[in-house]
Amino acid sequence: MKKALKIFFFTIIVVAIFFFGFLPSMIDKSMNKVTSQPPFPKDSVYEAIPFIADLHCDALLWDRDFFEKHNYGHVDLPRMLEANMALQVFTIVSKTPRGINIEHNDDHTDQVALLNFAQLRKPADWFSIKTRALDQCHDLHSFAKESGGKFRVITSKRDLEKYIADRKQNRFITAGMLGVEGAHCLENDINNLDVLYDAGVRYIGLAHFFDNEWAGSAHGVKKGGLTEKGKDLIKKMAEKNMVIDLAHSSQATISDVLKLHSGPVVVSHTGIKGVCDNNRNLTDEQIIEIGKHNGIIGIGLWETAVCGTDAAATAKSIKYVADKIGVDKVGLGSDFDGAIGTHFDVTGLPLIVKALEKEGFNQEDITKIMGGNIRDFFLRNLPN
Ligand SMILES: [Zn+2]
Repeated sequence: MKKALKIFFFTIIVVAIFFFGFLPSMIDKSMNKVTSQPPFPKDSVYEAIPFIADLHCDALLWDRDFFEKHNYGHVDLPRMLEANMALQVFTIVSKTPRGINIEHNDDHTDQVALLNFAQLRKPADWFSIKTRALDQCHDLHSFAKESGGKFRVITSKRDLEKYIADRKQNRFITAGMLGVEGAHCLENDINNLDVLYDAGVRYIGLAHFFDNEWAGSAHGVKKGGLTEKGKDLIKKMAEKNMVIDLAHSSQATISDVLKLHSGPVVVSHTGIKGVCDNNRNLTDEQIIEIGKHNGIIGIGLWETAVCGTDAAATAKSIKYVADKIGVDKVGLGSDFDGAIGTHFDVTGLPLIVKALEKEGFNQEDITKIMGGNIRDFFLRNLPN
């Protein structure tokens, strides 16, 4: 009997060590892979770009040390500095369904709860999607505090102007902004928009992989448009100068937003049906409407977005958007660390520049596409 009890406790301890000690980083390593491994040399065209920016990464979901250079995953501070990255938007994933796919998902399961449990985040994070989102915001602000001035969080036009001026003096600083994937983390209460705003969130993807109280998802069950509450939400977002992100939104949601909202929108990480025809990518009509709204489209660095696993595939979709609505309305929306394999980690961005040159873009165009457009979009649209 005593022996059986010993074996039982021993097994429990071994399972706990594996579950809490190794499983989170194993999941991170297995999900955030790359096609091409570093190093990626930078040429003079790349070095001359003053402001490199990206509209979407999910690095806050993982409990990797932000200050350490890793040989897995896609984004951390040393690699951002190595890539001469000026601005990365960190988007918050707060709930994803089991068996996630781009066609059809309900909201009955919650894999992020299990991940947060395995990561030994605080118990409130296991149960509240709003708390999870706020804790990820808090993490980014903490990185800034602990970085010794190397990293800052941008939340206003004034912050961004000051940062651009400071970076002219010192290239070895970088910055982040906060966005959200899926308004479900408002927990069905529009007052929580103020809470997210106060935590620094400046854009919100209305839906993620499932339909929610506010809007239909491209990957949901009903794939409906904006609900009545969703219409109130986009009105309130506009009042607060928060930008609407249409990535993952259903066709009906995109139509509703573009009809009801006259201000700019982003599509933070996407592809283009004209190059890569699937359920998560934009039609030509949507691209043209987004252009009329003075929006910006972030092209992805992974296979489902661009139907290819290299920089050339991403550059082809960028060219397609630039030809449709102009070179001023397209940028990068990598989806780094978004539980997907990307072409490379953040240090591989020089390969995008090479591919853009092959597509016929000149240095001025490349400077815009690689970050100038994103910088100017936020200079126009962030709150003062
Ligand atoms: Zn996404």
